[in-house]
Amino acid sequence: MFLRLLSDIQWRAAHPRWRRMTGSQRSTSTTAEPHPVSLPAQAQVVICGGGIMGTSVAYHLSKMGLKDIVLLEQGRLAAGTTRFCAGIVSTARPVSVELKMAHYSNKLYQQLQQETGVQTGYMKTGSISLAQTQDRLISLKRIASSLNVMGIPCEIISPKEVLKLHPLINIHDLVGAMYVPEDALVSSANVSLALATAASRNGVQIHERTCVSHVTIQKGRVTGVETDRGRIQCDYFVNCAGQWAYELGHSGEEPVHIPLHACEHFYLLTHPLKDPLSSSLPTIVDPDGRIYIRNWQGGILSGGFEKNPKPLFTEGRNQLEIQNLQEDWDHFGPLLGALLRRMPGLEALQIMQLVNCPESFTPDMRCIMGESPTARGYFVLAGMNSGGISYGGGAGKYLAEWIVNGYPSENVWPLDLKRFGTLQSSRTFLRHRVMEVMPLMCDLKVPRWDFQTGRQLRTSPLYDRLDAQGARWMEKHGFERVKYFVPPGSDLLDLDHSKTFYKPDWFDIVGSEVKCCKEAVSVIDMSSFTKFEISSTGDQALESLQYLCSNDLDVPVGHVVHTGMLNEKGGYENDCSIARLSKRSFFMISPTDQQVHCWTWLKNHLPDDSNLVLEDVTWKYTALNLIGPRAVDVLSELSYAPMTAEHFPSLFCKEMSVGYANGIRVMSITHTGEPGFVLYIPIEYALHVYNEVMNMGQKYGIRNAGYYALRSLRIEKFFAFWGQDLDAFTTPMECGREFQVKLDKGLEFLGQEALWEQKQNGVYKRFTMFILEDHDTDLDLWPWWGEPIFRNGRYVGKTTSSAYSYTLERHVCLGFVHHFDEKTGEELVVTTDFINQGEYEIDIAGQRFQAKAKLYPFSSLFTQRRRKDEVELSGYQRE
Ligand SMILES: Cc1cc2nc3c(=O)[nH]c(=O)nc-3n(C[C@H](O)[C@H](O)[C@H](O)COP(=O)(O)OP(=O)(O)OC[C@H]3O[C@@H](n4cnc5c(N)ncnc54)[C@H](O)[C@@H]3O)c2cc1C
Repeated sequence: MFLRLLSDIQWRAAHPRWRRMTGSQRSTSTTAEPHPVSLPAQAQVVICGGGIMGTSVAYHLSKMGLKDIVLLEQGRLAAGTTRFCAGIVSTARPVSVELKMAHYSNKLYQQLQQETGVQTGYMKTGSISLAQTQDRLISLKRIASSLNVMGIPCEIISPKEVLKLHPLINIHDLVGAMYVPEDALVSSANVSLALATAASRNGVQIHERTCVSHVTIQKGRVTGVETDRGRIQCDYFVNCAGQWAYELGHSGEEPVHIPLHACEHFYLLTHPLKDPLSSSLPTIVDPDGRIYIRNWQGGILSGGFEKNPKPLFTEGRNQLEIQNLQEDWDHFGPLLGALLRRMPGLEALQIMQLVNCPESFTPDMRCIMGESPTARGYFVLAGMNSGGISYGGGAGKYLAEWIVNGYPSENVWPLDLKRFGTLQSSRTFLRHRVMEVMPLMCDLKVPRWDFQTGRQLRTSPLYDRLDAQGARWMEKHGFERVKYFVPPGSDLLDLDHSKTFYKPDWFDIVGSEVKCCKEAVSVIDMSSFTKFEISSTGDQALESLQYLCSNDLDVPVGHVVHTGMLNEKGGYENDCSIARLSKRSFFMISPTDQQVHCWTWLKNHLPDDSNLVLEDVTWKYTALNLIGPRAVDVLSELSYAPMTAEHFPSLFCKEMSVGYANGIRVMSITHTGEPGFVLYIPIEYALHVYNEVMNMGQKYGIRNAGYYALRSLRIEKFFAFWGQDLDAFTTPMECGREFQVKLDKGLEFLGQEALWEQKQNGVYKRFTMFILEDHDTDLDLWPWWGEPIFRNGRYVGKTTSSAYSYTLERHVCLGFVHHFDEKTGEELVVTTDFINQGEYEIDIAGQRFQAKAKLYPFSSLFTQRRRKDEVELSGYQRE
């Protein structure tokens, strides 16, 4: 039947293009002033792009009382990708902040018609996500748990219940589904117009047919925009140019890297069914079939995420307005097949059109927002990975808050532009990566999956050596890092396909690496860590660091200090170790993905003083972490220097020779809480030092280890990790790190006031460790992160990381506990008693497991004796 329709040339000829077919979805009116109205000479904020993102930012900025906002659109409002959107507002998102954005958008769109008088087509239809496999069902159950604790109604339903909600769905291959009754449909262009209407009423000037050619930046600050109709001076520029954002970012003299790339994205429209589909039928998402289906004017709209996407505009191409691209029925064929399997009753249905529109995708499937690391006042909101309508409201709100208040009201680090560097902006990288990303929108993502494209970009000089010894790799910020080493003779193929929510097949391998770290000595290549040097001719380096860090940096030369770099609210902007190399120079080690963010934070806060030098030396050093009780023996033998605690105490740094190589920065810290050292080796010596260490280590039982072992060790020691447990909304007081805060250091430091207040009044969340009690490691689902925590049956927070502890032989979860008033829901202070007196459960995909709560520190848990301060100081570091 479909073949007949597809080959029906008359049908094609008889049906005009999308622009004429879908009047209800496209821009029919405009709130913009008629062109030409001259542009203002200056504005406080200029927004480029009149799609859902630009109009949402304009709406929220104006709601927040900002005046003097100009929105420029090269074509007509909402005539970019927003016009072609399928209009599904879906909250079922795995990333917590994206979920919150979508939830907010849904609530906003619901009342927008009433607020503005513009018909938005909002219809609460609900959505059903189908599971064809048990693993898919587990992933849906995990999302359902997250939605439920946020108060968003959501249930896991049986195939029969699916049929009751949507009688046309074929359920024979389903094992279950997730139903979100409040998900909605909208006319996306009209939502965008409604936002523009409200913004315009609030004083935002909107100019259509006005193209931004480039943004002018002077001394690292936005000064204005050049357009085809003249220049506007401004303090803030917001790039909401959708798929054009990358090119616009590169158009000025100072490039702003916005790593996104367009792919063709298709959906099919049909004529109405004989018995037209009810407009209230829920949207169907069938990720295993790679398709979504919604009702559309009595017929259906169905699109999807094919396995072999078609990236486009790699060479750059800036059309004025997006037109429907070429139909490609061969390409759409597999999705069509999936649609027919899911709704066999459609076979006799007439196709109206195959819509094909570019949408932009990002290297990690998360959207991009925030301020440019290179140009202050240059903000970006783009790269929506086909979720732009769902995110639009919330994303616009967070970005507006960022501009007005200096920070958004939520932790948006997972979406922050500064998670990327220039390395993700190569056109080839982006083209290859988005070809992987688009299918991943539907692929089942088991814990710790890795991207396969764009790999081997940044590597340690030891890469080949480690690879030859069985290293299995993961990637962070473009850097290859070892997960674990497959011992000779193991089934390598199996281990490469370790896809499960249960006990993974690397369990024993990692266990033996952990054992070696505890009983002998292991080596982990940690070269990816960010490394900066800060030096000055006078005391500027010390003075600046004293202001930026909560700990006291005025320590004797050769000492290492673990410290947070906090924002005004006391939250962690960075969590780092700083070695004092000399009176006036410091060596800072930060997490891998802090390279851009931390650099920007320092640049923005260090005084403009030519006598103060900040240098990124990440690439100059290979870092080897020697972990375990025999590390001291290996290093003493290699350096002919006494390395015992009397000569080389904990938290000490010294340049020494190792083997033939000189100038190795040795620090007595590990990243696991075990005894040991980190060697920062100038890269040309890396292979030599590694060989020496491995040769000498033979007699002490040395072996290679990877990050999974490190992770298990750091989690069982309750060490928090920036980017996972710690963020800009978490203070040292909330995670048991008071010992890193020197409120009395006699100098003012950033965040000090907020910490004083917390010290006096208490904290509203506490970092807590949970040891699972009735959990069977072999048979039960594993916790990974993001699992809801229940205290006395009530939701109190979420886990931030977890691992199997080979020492405790139990699973350990770390997470934050809040205290909500039972009647009002108001947040209350979390006391030690509150933590200790509760009965806890961790929800893993809907099943609750009992857990024992522990507060930091807890060294009695471990049989291995260690002084408390050593536990605290020697290895809490992140990664
Ligand atoms: C086929 C398809 C179906 C989709 N379905 C859904 C869905 O069901 N649910 C969902 O949540 N998302 C969906 N999406 C994704 C969603 O439509 C997009 O993420 C969203 O519309 C992107 O909005 P935007 O404002 O970033 O981009 P756009 O809407 O493209 O807006 C960018 C605007 O910037 C303007 N511009 C660019 N450069 C300049 C310049 N130099 N000067 C002035 N103006 C400029 C452009 O003209 C354009 O109007 C779908 C996408 C596609 C393609």
